[in-house]
Amino acid sequence: MLNTIAITLAAIMIPTSPVNAMMPESTLSICEPTAYIQQERTATGIIHTPNGSEVNVLYPSDEVTDSTLDFYTHYFDGSGGGYSGDYTNINGETVTLKDKNIRRIGDPTTRYNGIAFAFYMYWEIDYPLDYERVACEIRDISPYLNDHSYEIVDEPKANDIVCYYSDEGILTAGVILEVAESEAGNPSGKEPFVKQLSKLKVLTKWDRFGVYEHRGDYSPYLSNFATEYVTTSVSVGVQYLRRHTHSYTQKYVADGDKYHKAYCKCGDYSVNPHIWIRGSNRQKYCEYCFYRTSGFPFLTDTLNLDYNDVDYKSLHKN
Ligand SMILES: [Zn+2]
Ligand SMILES: [Zn+2]
Repeated sequence: MLNTIAITLAAIMIPTSPVNAMMPESTLSICEPTAYIQQERTATGIIHTPNGSEVNVLYPSDEVTDSTLDFYTHYFDGSGGGYSGDYTNINGETVTLKDKNIRRIGDPTTRYNGIAFAFYMYWEIDYPLDYERVACEIRDISPYLNDHSYEIVDEPKANDIVCYYSDEGILTAGVILEVAESEAGNPSGKEPFVKQLSKLKVLTKWDRFGVYEHRGDYSPYLSNFATEYVTTSVSVGVQYLRRHTHSYTQKYVADGDKYHKAYCKCGDYSVNPHIWIRGSNRQKYCEYCFYRTSGFPFLTDTLNLDYNDVDYKSLHKN
């Protein structure tokens, strides 16, 4: 059983190239990330964002025991537990989950949560599958945004992260595997964000029930899909996050006689030496920030360069 799951997941985990991500008008990104609240936990630790910031994590014990494993394993497939696997779709029709291409690919457990899976574990897991090594719980995703490891986008692509939000904060998160060209004809709700979710194939963890591969709108965190066993709060919006890699080519701002700051579009910067070239009047100036310096004959007064304007200053880090 475990081997089968491992092989299946390994096949799924092969990074997919981004598919066509052209989307209709922007609809989402309505929620601010907040801490993910749960009961007290037994141990804590630190991992790092892709850009190197510290993230506090918890190492919960597993509350899924041998006696409850079966219940959680089969809860959503309609073959056991207390749930038929049915939900009512936008047209008022009853739909059964097991007919909807929903697959559980991770065993039920409380040793990690959906946020940790999407932001950390999915990208760290070795082959063969080794949840044990990286299992943890992350409650607060702000380190990933504050250090620009991720940026918010409106139009999701493969390998982006989708975060499901309630009114109070983030509920779970997942990895986007594929994006269809158009919305599904039978979304599980009428809201624009639900319709947009219906274009996605995602991996998300459904609380202690495990990680599921499913269409984005076929999530128990959504209104007419929610069940008390998975969540007490309903998702009212989602946010799409994309890995951001700094590129210090957006703007160059002089920082004294020797250096300039090279900015990324996110506002981060690196400090680099000027690259001098000689102008026609025998002054030398920096090829990038246009800073001029004295030391040559025929110098004129310092030019009023635009690196002092408000727009540039606003980019400076605190
Ligand atoms: Zn950047
Ligand atoms: Zn310069």
